[in-house]
Amino acid sequence: MPSPHYFLKHFVPFTGYPYKGAPAACNLCGAHEAITVAETDRRLKTLKSIACVQCGLIRTDPMPTPDELAEYYTTSYRADYQLAFSGGPPRHHLNRSAREAVFRADLLSAKLVPGARLLDFGSGSGEFLAEARRRGCEAIGVEPGRDYANYAREHHGVEVLDEAEDAGRFPAGHFDVISTHHVLEHLRNPAEAVERLAGWLKPDGVLYAAVPNMAATGKPPHERFHFAHVHGYVRETFDLLARRAGLVPHTDYWREDTTVVYRKTDAPIGRLANPGLAERLAVDLKPMPAGVYLASGAWIWPAIRRNAKAVRDGLAKR
Ligand SMILES: [Zn+2]
Repeated sequence: MPSPHYFLKHFVPFTGYPYKGAPAACNLCGAHEAITVAETDRRLKTLKSIACVQCGLIRTDPMPTPDELAEYYTTSYRADYQLAFSGGPPRHHLNRSAREAVFRADLLSAKLVPGARLLDFGSGSGEFLAEARRRGCEAIGVEPGRDYANYAREHHGVEVLDEAEDAGRFPAGHFDVISTHHVLEHLRNPAEAVERLAGWLKPDGVLYAAVPNMAATGKPPHERFHFAHVHGYVRETFDLLARRAGLVPHTDYWREDTTVVYRKTDAPIGRLANPGLAERLAVDLKPMPAGVYLASGAWIWPAIRRNAKAVRDGLAKR
C-alpha cells in the first residue's frame, strides 16, 4: 500500500507528481531535441510536456518509469477515475463504452462480417468485443487492467488475455481487424506496439486506432494533459506513427483527426518528420496565465463535474 503522503501528493494542485522519471528520446523518430509545450495538467498539478522538434510527438518529460506508472495506476488513477470499481466499472463508463462500441462496429461494419477475426488491443470492459461477436466475428481482447478484464469475461463472456500473454500468441497476418481505442497515449513505447499490431494484420486487414486529439479546441489547453497519458498526438503525428509501422489511412473509411482506420502499404516509409509542428503546438497549447485562468472560473465546472460524477457512481449500488 502506498503511504498517505504519496496518495495526498497526487491530489494537491500546483505541486508536482511524486515521480522521478528519466529523460527519453522521441519514441517515434529517435530525436532528442524538444520544446516545452505545457507545464501543468488538467488537475492543475505541475507536469512538463515537450514536443519533438523533428516530428512533433508530445511526451511527458522526464518520462515516468514503468514502475512509477504502475504505482500511479494502482493508486491515484483508480481513486480518481474508478471510485466505484469495487462494484464493477462506473455506470457512466459503461454507458459511454456501450455507445462507443456500436459506433466503432458500425464504422468497421464492412470488415466485421461472420467469421472475421478481430483483436481489441486494450479491450477494457469488453463492450466492443461483445458487439463484434454479436456480428458473428471471432473476437479476442488484450487488457492489462485485471478488474476490467475480469468484468469483460464475466459480464460479456468474451475471451480476454492479460498483457503478458499477448506477446507471441498470435501468428503474423492473423487478424482481419485490429482495434485499439484510447490506449496508445498511455504507452511508453507506442511505436513498438503499433508495429506489433501491424504484424498481426492480414495483408488486407484494417487497424482502427483512436487517441485524444491534443489539438482539439474548445477546452483550456492544460485540460488535455494527464499524468497517465505519457504521449500526445495530433493528426500529423498519429499518421506518422502508423506510417513508421507500414500503415496509411484507409480512404474508404470516415476519419476524424486522431480516430483513424489504417491499412497496410508497401510504399517506402520516407522521413519521419513534421517540420514546424512542434513550434505550432507550443503556440496552440500555450496556457492562459494562471491568474487569468483562476479569475475566469473556467476551472470550477470541470472540477464540480468530476466530483459529482465520482459521488454519483459511488452511490449507485451495482
Ligand atoms: Zn520525434
